[in-house]
Amino acid sequence: MNEQKKEQVLKQYFGYDSFREGQAKLIDSALEGRDVLGIMPTGAGKSLCFQVPALMMEGITLVISPLISLMKDQVGALNQAGIHAAFLNSSLTMNQYYKALSLASKNQYKIIYVAPERLMTEEFLSFVSKVDISIIAIDEAHCVSQWGQDFRPSYLKIGEFIEILPKRPVICAYTATATKEVKNDIIELLMLEEPTVVTTGFDRKNLHFAVRKPKNKYKEVKDYISDHRKDSGIIYCLTRKLVEEVYENLINDGIKAAKYHGGLLDKERQDNQDNFIYDRALVMVATNAFGMGIDKSNVRFVIHYNMPRNMENYYQEAGRAGRDGELAECILLYGGQDVITNQFFIEHEFEEDELTPDVRALVREKNREKLKKMTFYCFTNECLRGYILRYFGEYLGNYCGNCSNCLTQFEEVDITKEGRALIGCVKEARERYGMGVIIDAVHGASNAKVKQYHLDKNPYYNQLPAVPVYKLRQILQYLLMEEYLMLTNEEYSILKLTKKSMEVFQEDAFISMKMAKERGIVQKKARGEKEEDLRSEDERLFAELRNLRMELAREAKVPPYIIFSDKSLRMMCRIRPRSRGEMLSISGVGEYKYEKYGEKFLNIIGKH
Ligand code: ADP
Ligand code: MG
Repeated sequence: MNEQKKEQVLKQYFGYDSFREGQAKLIDSALEGRDVLGIMPTGAGKSLCFQVPALMMEGITLVISPLISLMKDQVGALNQAGIHAAFLNSSLTMNQYYKALSLASKNQYKIIYVAPERLMTEEFLSFVSKVDISIIAIDEAHCVSQWGQDFRPSYLKIGEFIEILPKRPVICAYTATATKEVKNDIIELLMLEEPTVVTTGFDRKNLHFAVRKPKNKYKEVKDYISDHRKDSGIIYCLTRKLVEEVYENLINDGIKAAKYHGGLLDKERQDNQDNFIYDRALVMVATNAFGMGIDKSNVRFVIHYNMPRNMENYYQEAGRAGRDGELAECILLYGGQDVITNQFFIEHEFEEDELTPDVRALVREKNREKLKKMTFYCFTNECLRGYILRYFGEYLGNYCGNCSNCLTQFEEVDITKEGRALIGCVKEARERYGMGVIIDAVHGASNAKVKQYHLDKNPYYNQLPAVPVYKLRQILQYLLMEEYLMLTNEEYSILKLTKKSMEVFQEDAFISMKMAKERGIVQKKARGEKEEDLRSEDERLFAELRNLRMELAREAKVPPYIIFSDKSLRMMCRIRPRSRGEMLSISGVGEYKYEKYGEKFLNIIGKH
């Protein structure tokens, strides 16, 4: 085994031809006995970075992972690839647990997934004292940090556990969270020793990003799903109530949907999740409680029914689309109410926690700032991918060609007059009000607030009655992004002037912004068919292969994508392999899987 090259292991077990960015370096380091920290986005392929060295080294690899569903999924996938793996967590009965431990003590498993809560138990400590542990891999390592949103106190025990071990194994930590605080916490709390740190690019080229502001969000979703009948996707809503509502509507419209949120009973949540993972329900409607630990590779779209609270959450949730590397769409449906709902959450979280008032105030302020940046994402007319990557500290040019802004025709519009009215109104009202009221005033509304604040006496009142409110909002967001105005970070954000504000009143002032041309969306299809689209006879074959996969998945009791990914099936349709050798050239077909399933697929392909 030791003589084998890592490339061979990759091909033989996983059926892949080459490593992705970062993988080779992380694997080599682990093999040389050096600790590693891999920071790679969702879907980049972190699991292989410990699974490959696990197979190449003597001894057992322990994988510490926060979620039961995640372990089940990965162990299922490993067993399908012919690798002996097991998990040890609270989903096992006492009997099953002891049985698994006893097999593990006899070196029956090469890779063992274990929940962090189990590490310091007597039985487990006794087990690890008897066997040779080569690697400890810590998946979702950011769970050790209190800075992240997924903090798990049990992760803090990992350091202690490692210290107790008779021989210190190689420690490998992986996460998709890239902030400095989290990274430092991981290195310190997991006690990594001079780790090889690899941070790969955060760009996911196969994801298409779009922001839409539909009047009727439900209709938008329904139309989208009708156009993508065969695709699996997730719809994220901000509240449980909305999840219920959207779910009900979809069911009434005859769409096979499932729902997931914190208000459901454990059993129901688990069943719904399984229905989605096993492709029995194609669409999952959920709050952000759903998703960590979902490795379903064929999620073709992630629609955000509401704007989430920050870019970190957005990118993580959207990133659950297209793990298989095939094209996938990430669409955010923005509505003004989303900002208000998020503000409410920010003001009311941590109320029961033991944070001191100072710390709480600080956290809230940080969160309001993040919400602002999220809102800018919804209003920018620049490349969306560029915006995301800049947010995470990477630089990309300002054109990706695969987001709704890059595919929209814009025109440069003079907004000097609108800018003057909005900024003037803020100034004359002595910087005391928020966005909604100022827009209402400039637009000439005569509602209670406008009257109460005497804004109908403001010299800029009713200056722009003909400009629709949504446009005024766009312009105001642009003025904020360009720092002609700023928004305070209080519970009720207030518009304030900046150093730049007065520039607009100079005689030769000229401000312009990019605005979408009316009906200027370039249709995606007009750019040429998607490269990956199949011809219609291939589509028929694809459908048959999918049916076969579904049958085999039922027998093996694993999700269909674990038998073969969509990507592998599509390649089979295009290449039409006729022999064992040709089949093994398909990405994702390893030797073990070929022996198990290869001929069944060859048979169907042969009949076409
Ligand atoms: P992460 O944990 O980083 O979110 P995963 O480890 O779940 O990502 O991998 C995502 C998908 O990419 C999986 O379906 C995996 O099989 C696939 N994958 C990983 N490495 C490669 C590779 N070198 N070539 C092709 N596919 C890969
Ligand atoms: Mg992972």
